[in-house]
Amino acid sequence: MPRVVVIGIDGASPELLAEYADLGVMPNYARLKAEGCSGVLTSTIHPNTPQAWTTLFTGVDASRHGIFDFRRFDLSQRTFHYSHSGHRLAPMVWELPGVRELRSLVVNLPLTYPATSINGLMLTGMNTPSMEELTWPPEAYRDVLALEPDYRIDTLWRTYRNAEEHCLAALRMAEARARLLERLFSRESYDLSIGVFTATDRMQHLYWHRRHDPRDIVARIHGVIDAFLGRLAEQLGRTGDLLLLVSDHGFTDLEADFYPNNLLRSLNLLKFQGDPHSIHASAQVRRGFEFLDWDRTPVYAYGFFGSLYLNHLMLTPKSRNNLRDDLIGLLREGYLDTGLSAIWAKEDLFEDPASTVVPEVLLIPRHYRAMARDGSEFLSPALYDSPSLPYTGTHAPEGLYLAWGKGVPPSTTALDAQDVAPLVLRALSVAKPSLLHGCDRKGGFDETVLPCRGSYPTEATQYFSKEHRTAELDHIGESLRGLGYL
Ligand SMILES: [Zn+2]
Repeated sequence: MPRVVVIGIDGASPELLAEYADLGVMPNYARLKAEGCSGVLTSTIHPNTPQAWTTLFTGVDASRHGIFDFRRFDLSQRTFHYSHSGHRLAPMVWELPGVRELRSLVVNLPLTYPATSINGLMLTGMNTPSMEELTWPPEAYRDVLALEPDYRIDTLWRTYRNAEEHCLAALRMAEARARLLERLFSRESYDLSIGVFTATDRMQHLYWHRRHDPRDIVARIHGVIDAFLGRLAEQLGRTGDLLLLVSDHGFTDLEADFYPNNLLRSLNLLKFQGDPHSIHASAQVRRGFEFLDWDRTPVYAYGFFGSLYLNHLMLTPKSRNNLRDDLIGLLREGYLDTGLSAIWAKEDLFEDPASTVVPEVLLIPRHYRAMARDGSEFLSPALYDSPSLPYTGTHAPEGLYLAWGKGVPPSTTALDAQDVAPLVLRALSVAKPSLLHGCDRKGGFDETVLPCRGSYPTEATQYFSKEHRTAELDHIGESLRGLGYL
């Protein structure tokens, strides 16, 4: 039975990697692409890291897996809570029958903290507060640090004195992650391994405008990953195992920050207590909704990219639906192509319209070359304004897919985020649960491998949980602030 190694590159853009292949920055990637199956992996709407990675490895959309954004707003308490693995309502691919009997390794996949039980080893990803809380089994962190003492979970840019120090830390983080993955691979041969590089995303947000310079940080980090891919392919080539390369989203130029609450204000749907001019100038209001008049605000926006939620404490179910439909009509008439490139109702995109995790209305600002920024909802009185942070890159919907190994002829494909978990199951010869709707036939690998392991509940009630597993973890906010997100 072939083993499967999935390498995730956060924010890897197929266009940029093709350019790096041509420039000689990524010679190994160039070879793998020429020999294997590759194409665009379309991210989720929105193409945000928590939602996209969770969709990739559950095989279901955010209305079923329960992770949409970095934060969720609790209207009755009027507080924000940070998303974490305890909010996940669908099993990850390594938790499914047929896979959980196999040995799995998961390294630095975003939104896996707090670590959950795994038949193998898990190192949780971003927002993990300390090395002592890094692993499952819990005591394994000592062993991990003994294998690679320079291992880092993330680089929080606000903790570095200057840009040079931050770039160097990101480069060292990528190098240490590559070393640790290689040491873990050579110590035990896992049936399924998932390892994610995140330095790409962190540096591309800041230095996307310098990506064409092969000596600059974005290219150098891709060079580190490429050298790792070369060594990995050599090893997998000998054992006949399968390599999959995926990204949660691509990258593009950031042109502006987007302020959807100002759109709602102009439509008279969002009201402040007090003078709105002083509120925009207030640093406090960046972090919360404390200045909103909740008795007169039926619609509000928060989070990344462009997400509108309805005030269910103020509206009856019937008036909610009417308001929502009227609002979509109004926006499509007045703003489509003049400020917004798409406007979606949640049932246009998500399977479970009863989910309260996904927004009621999703706005796509300027083909994702602009973004609403969580924590900065009221920083400007305009609909679009220049970026509030020194960022030049943002997430694009076009992510990356590549499959390489025995039984993968040179070919091209196009995949959606929900196809990845079914493909991993197919590669491991495990039957796909009928509740996963992604396609397991577009990965480019041997069609003659037949699913033979695993048996699944066919009822959604047995497959999806209704309850979160752990309490809120508010210290996660410190990590997100350190990354510059809040
Ligand atoms: Zn990402």
